[in-house]
Amino acid sequence: MGRTQRPDQILHTLQIRSLLVDRASNCIGPYSVGTMLDTHCHLSFPQFRDNLQKLLSDARAHGVAGAITISTTTSDALQSLDIAQRFANVWCSAGIHPLNCDEPIHWPDLLTAASDPKCVAWGELGLDHHYDDPPRPLQIKVLEDQLTFIKQSGIELPVVVHCRKAFSTLIPILRSSGLPADRFVFHCFTGDEEEARQVLEFGAWISLTGIATFKSAKDVQAAAKLIPDDRIMIETDAPFCTPEPFRKIRPNTPRYAIETARFVANLRASAWDDFHHLININTERFFGIPQAQCVVEG
Ligand SMILES: [Zn+2]
Repeated sequence: MGRTQRPDQILHTLQIRSLLVDRASNCIGPYSVGTMLDTHCHLSFPQFRDNLQKLLSDARAHGVAGAITISTTTSDALQSLDIAQRFANVWCSAGIHPLNCDEPIHWPDLLTAASDPKCVAWGELGLDHHYDDPPRPLQIKVLEDQLTFIKQSGIELPVVVHCRKAFSTLIPILRSSGLPADRFVFHCFTGDEEEARQVLEFGAWISLTGIATFKSAKDVQAAAKLIPDDRIMIETDAPFCTPEPFRKIRPNTPRYAIETARFVANLRASAWDDFHHLININTERFFGIPQAQCVVEG
């Protein structure tokens, strides 16, 4: 009598087989030696929507194997999830940006996005006091509502934080949320040394964009040297903030993450290979996206 397999065993066998096929052909893993991830960009923005395949292969050819596309509204959370589901090496987040907090909010959409395996973070959420519109009280209310929502959801993803000129207001709000400080990353850090110290003393991570490469950004560069090895990440925030020497190119795209990474490695007097390895380990630790076991070829 031949062995028969139960349906669940068959499914399991098929899953393993497709995993092996992926490994052999295209490398299932998104990044490894020689490549990194862009940990923060906005692929759902109109500049990119119709051009994603080319943008991602261009990134890969330049050593950026994939990206996390970050949402800014509840409807964008679903659009970002859709992109993450269409591209193997794209992940997404679920959150409301402080500058979009006056747009319609549909909480169930946030939960739908956050519940998907391709969603690796909450956010971006926070405060932007560079602008007075939307008004600060509304920014604070939507921030607090999101933190409560995150806590009540029980979905323990890390949280991407947007903070512009608002460190002393924002950090106490994050602290009082009761969420562990090391689950937060202050993305696109544009503060000075003192503000970096506030973030680090709180216990959060810091992520740098192309702004760190600007000649005018001496404060950010000084701050970048203070960040401990185990709490630093690199991103583009594309379509914004193209790094030097490509600053005039608009829009920024994920491929330029590697330029910022190289600049920051140099700034921190770190060998490129070491720093590259470090940011990949940190991306895996913070977002839980495993590194590949094989080299991804362009
Ligand atoms: Zn952003």
